[in-house]
Amino acid sequence: MASVTFEKATRVFDGQERPAVDAIDLAIEDGEFLVLVGPSGCGKSTTLRMLAGLEDVDSGRLLIGDRDVTHLASKDRDIAMVFQNYALYPHMTVAENMGFALKIARVPKAEIRTRVEEAAAILDLTPYLDRKPKALSGGQRQRVAMGRAIVRSPQVFLMDEPLSNLDAKLRVQTRTQIAALQRRLGTTTVYVTHDQVEAMTMGDRVAVMDAGVLQQVATPREIYDRPANVFVAGFLGSPAMNLLELPVVDGGVRLGDALVPIERSVLERVDGTVTLGVRPENLGISEQGLPITVSVVEETGADAYLYGHTENLTENLVARTDWRRPPEKGSHIRLAPLDLADVHVFDPATGHRL
Ligand code: ATP
Repeated sequence: MASVTFEKATRVFDGQERPAVDAIDLAIEDGEFLVLVGPSGCGKSTTLRMLAGLEDVDSGRLLIGDRDVTHLASKDRDIAMVFQNYALYPHMTVAENMGFALKIARVPKAEIRTRVEEAAAILDLTPYLDRKPKALSGGQRQRVAMGRAIVRSPQVFLMDEPLSNLDAKLRVQTRTQIAALQRRLGTTTVYVTHDQVEAMTMGDRVAVMDAGVLQQVATPREIYDRPANVFVAGFLGSPAMNLLELPVVDGGVRLGDALVPIERSVLERVDGTVTLGVRPENLGISEQGLPITVSVVEETGADAYLYGHTENLTENLVARTDWRRPPEKGSHIRLAPLDLADVHVFDPATGHRL
């Protein structure tokens, strides 16, 4: 096992003005499960591929433990990667697929057999060892791909959207299994996804990336409760956090006829306006607050979401409400934060949390 360190690691593709990965600094601890999350094209796969040795590092350094691997060949890095298309060999059995890397590395046959059997037992694949991939379900194939990584006992697992080919139910099951497996093996893992639920549920820490730049690296709870900027605030959470740019008046901001007070130390740092953020579950129907007209009521089974537009603001708002008694479409209600502790304040100029 080993730590992983990115030091100002940068990748600029030919013909592109902006780096795909822009001088990222990231220290992943020995045994940690780090999830790298961000929208399509933000550079997360490139970051992982740099660590895998599949992509050049144009400047900066990469370390695994205290080994500088920046320019080391992929095969010498002691990593194992699980891709989204499992890339199993169709003509080989499950056992042969799982043991292939060891065979190439000239590990003795008896040892390959033992390591494959151990991994198969962990992954519930023992009954399938003699089958070919085409005779397996999607979930079983995914586990074979995991098995191939496990048998090598690498210092680091790298996973790039390994669940994206599974249906919704299997994704949920498998994400729990992978997280539990990682904790059991204790192998440092870097896991790339664009799925925010995977990010929130699987990682010890989450690194949120946008436009080649790390926006925040923290525990899932911290990222959700104290997003570092407007991007992180809007990216994690579904439906997304309501963000309203509002003028500062009387030591706070007005939401209709309600005053939301803001700490003086925060107000001193802005120039007349703030971006106020409130998650849908932290907004409630109240006597006082921002008047809105409900335009859509979305019932998900467990909850109801109210979408509405304000009379003089152009923004739309969304609030989560009790699914048993949602107001009707077209009704006029007022929304206000349920608890001032759940109000986030950002600088509209920089997007940073205040
Ligand atoms: P996705 O979730 O869609 O896979 P991502 O966050 O993993 O996206 P990357 O694949 O890392 O994003 O791509 C980052 C940026 O670099 C994108 O703008 C992409 O178009 C660009 N890019 C990736 N690979 C290459 C390449 N081989 N040549 C040129 N540009 C590339």
